[in-house]
Amino acid sequence: MSKNGLHTFAFHTKDETSDRVANILRTERPSLAAFATTKAVGLRNLDPETAARQHLNQALASKELPQFTAPEVNNATCEFKILGTETLPLTETKTVKFRQTYNKIPVYGSLITIEMDYGNELLAVNSSLGEPINVDTIAQISPAEALNKVRDLAGYGLKPLEATPRLCYYFDTAVDRWRLIYVIEDVRQQSREKTQTDKHIPLLMDYLIDAHNGEIVAKLPRTPSVAVLDRASPSQQQVEEALDGLEKLRKISCLMTGDRKTLQDLDLNVHTYDFEFRDLNSGLLPGNYVGKPPEWAPGAISAHANAAVVAIFLRDVLRRNGIDNIGGPLISSINCVVANESPDGQEWRNAAWVEGQMVYGQRKVRGQLRSYAVGLDVVAHEIFHGVTDRTARLQYAGESGALNESYSDIFGIIVSNFEEPNLSAWNWEMGEELQGTGIPLRDLSNPSKYRQPAQMRDYLNLPITEAGDWGGVHFNSGIHNLAAYKIMTAKDRQGAYLFDRKSLAALFYLTLTQYLSRTSLFRDSRGAIELVGRTLFRGDAIEVRNAKLQAIARAFDEVGISISGQEQLLDGSVFSGDSITRSQQLGNGSPRIVGNHYLVYVHGISQHREHYSDSWWQALQPHVGEVFKNGNLGDTRLEVLWSHLVNTETFVNAVNAVDTNKQRQLRREIMAILEDRRRQELATNTNGGFHRSSAMQTHWVESNAAALAIDDFLIYMLNSRMRQRIIDCFTDVVKPLLINNNQIDIISHSWGTVVAYEGLRELEANEQFLQRYVSNFFTVGSALSIGTVRDFLRPENRDGRRPSMVNKWINLDAKGDLVGGTLWGMFDISEETLKLNPTSCSQQWFGYDSVCAHNSYFVKENIAVNQEIFAKNILV
Ligand SMILES: [Zn+2]
Repeated sequence: MSKNGLHTFAFHTKDETSDRVANILRTERPSLAAFATTKAVGLRNLDPETAARQHLNQALASKELPQFTAPEVNNATCEFKILGTETLPLTETKTVKFRQTYNKIPVYGSLITIEMDYGNELLAVNSSLGEPINVDTIAQISPAEALNKVRDLAGYGLKPLEATPRLCYYFDTAVDRWRLIYVIEDVRQQSREKTQTDKHIPLLMDYLIDAHNGEIVAKLPRTPSVAVLDRASPSQQQVEEALDGLEKLRKISCLMTGDRKTLQDLDLNVHTYDFEFRDLNSGLLPGNYVGKPPEWAPGAISAHANAAVVAIFLRDVLRRNGIDNIGGPLISSINCVVANESPDGQEWRNAAWVEGQMVYGQRKVRGQLRSYAVGLDVVAHEIFHGVTDRTARLQYAGESGALNESYSDIFGIIVSNFEEPNLSAWNWEMGEELQGTGIPLRDLSNPSKYRQPAQMRDYLNLPITEAGDWGGVHFNSGIHNLAAYKIMTAKDRQGAYLFDRKSLAALFYLTLTQYLSRTSLFRDSRGAIELVGRTLFRGDAIEVRNAKLQAIARAFDEVGISISGQEQLLDGSVFSGDSITRSQQLGNGSPRIVGNHYLVYVHGISQHREHYSDSWWQALQPHVGEVFKNGNLGDTRLEVLWSHLVNTETFVNAVNAVDTNKQRQLRREIMAILEDRRRQELATNTNGGFHRSSAMQTHWVESNAAALAIDDFLIYMLNSRMRQRIIDCFTDVVKPLLINNNQIDIISHSWGTVVAYEGLRELEANEQFLQRYVSNFFTVGSALSIGTVRDFLRPENRDGRRPSMVNKWINLDAKGDLVGGTLWGMFDISEETLKLNPTSCSQQWFGYDSVCAHNSYFVKENIAVNQEIFAKNILV
């Protein structure tokens, strides 16, 4: 059984190894009761559904296909419900699809496809079937209760939710067992569930609710189906030329109504709208038709002309009637924005398939806005999300989601290169017209170039959340993309391409639309491509066909996608409901680089101004090579700053709000500890032989307290509002980096180590599923070493646990630094180095200058820290 709980089976009659079985099946038919009607009217004259069902029943019953069975489960018979029939002119075949059911309840993700030639003779059987064992088939929760639960979760309040819960058997990978669930589809998220950070494009979600205990089993994003629009009353269709967003002259079809033209192509049913920079969350899609006068908007011309190219490709190459195959409209809106993601209300760096249409954002290029619709590959990519949505409906999460992305990329590449018959001239990059825009750029020929995995063993197990890219759908797609690239560029012994562009288009298209289902995995795609190849190339000479089939198999082998054999060693936590928190480990504790690499500095509490880390960086830079590129401030190097909160009116108010007795008490305690450290330092340096009065000691620490900024820090510990504001300064910098899957190193100093630690713990608590993207958390001269400070941490942080997103926690302390010290045994650190030489600090007769030692880590001469500790760990 595979990761999605389903067994797969494939059989093709045009396969030399299956000749014998295919013959037996043919000859035994007249004796079978299942074929009684066939005997009477002849196979050719049956309707395809009846013929397909007869083939299915025969295959299930036949001793020749022992692996293909549909056993009883819980005394219930396995039944097959017809989903539909399709005629495929590309291969001159027809397919009939079935879904598996028990007690009339469907098995989620199950699919049987029977492919026949035009004479109803069997060509192929492909199936993904489940055996929902150990599950009570009686629901304990009513459909209304399930619906209420979802209404609540999606923030409907008292508003009604129009949806029909449907019962299903569902294999829950997270708990490795079957469940009886309600599926509630296409639920539009209401504002209540949105948090401040939940600002993205409007989402429709599918909810899966356990029908026995009401648990949320999964919450999955949806790309909804095509909206039906009223057709404009026929007026005059015109063709004209206009400049697109790349200043290329394009032919477009528009509609003439009176003396105004609008971007409506009624032949291809392509419609292009202007959303006029409104927020996508306003619910006002698609906007108004793009019109002339005044002048055509170049971005609209790109969207319109490119959508027409894709529509013609669907019609002429794939023989498909639009996205939905019934001639529905192809709708695009340009000038879309998500307000919270747009710095100026105009730029929005994205393109998406939303609410059954394409939406395009734009970015500034030399001061001018450039629409994302300029890229034909991007347009085809989005449109094929629509095709997938209408066919395989690959669940947009985890491996099936990566497959969904990959098929969109594959067609983005095929469509945008289709004019070029010579495959060696094809461009394999996605979205190259938009380079540097933040759109996930990909290269099918070289996934690693854009930090995608290229091998099954490097598959990324990211969480099924928006922050986790729904399980890394834009990352793991690279593995399947590379297999597709290897197929597309496969050559024969003479060095000629094995496949031409038309058969490549047909191969991937038929696989996607005829053989894949919601929970299909990469290996299912491989199996289906191999099956489709047998049908598609059945007219070829046997050596040619075999060479093609072998090339397909080899391509998948090379990226580690195998059909049988062991299951891939993948983490099981593919589907996770909101309530389940899982800490995920990536490899052997080493972080994965998926985004950019950032360095974050956190200063201690005292006056620090912008650029305080410039000299710190200058000390580190010679040792870290190109890891942070040029390390420019605000670019790959970021500073956490909160001095604006210190020594201002707010700060004075905060001081006043603090119980002065408590403050005095705490101050005394910290002083006592620092004093004690001082005394030990002194004892070590003088071999315990020197004697001083304790009054003098206290005086020394007192006079240095200002330099060590103790009073600032007391406010942090005693005033929870102030603490929150200071922590916010930290999380405001770090959180966006983490949720966008960037790799970061944090170097925190002194009292700033406390802020950083509490900030990371807060992020951990609020943002579940953050990955271990903090490669190194350095605490340097850390006030966390002061026992009293730990006692005043937020209660939940006093356990000293390492924040889950931190890969390695490294603590440092120099001789003579009174604030810093060991964290061992109190905090879950990975390693620490103590008694470092306080480089360039003068050694006085009683020890090092304490303030100098406390700041000694960040001087250029301190190679032991900057090269041997910081850089060494950063470069791992
Ligand atoms: Zn996509």
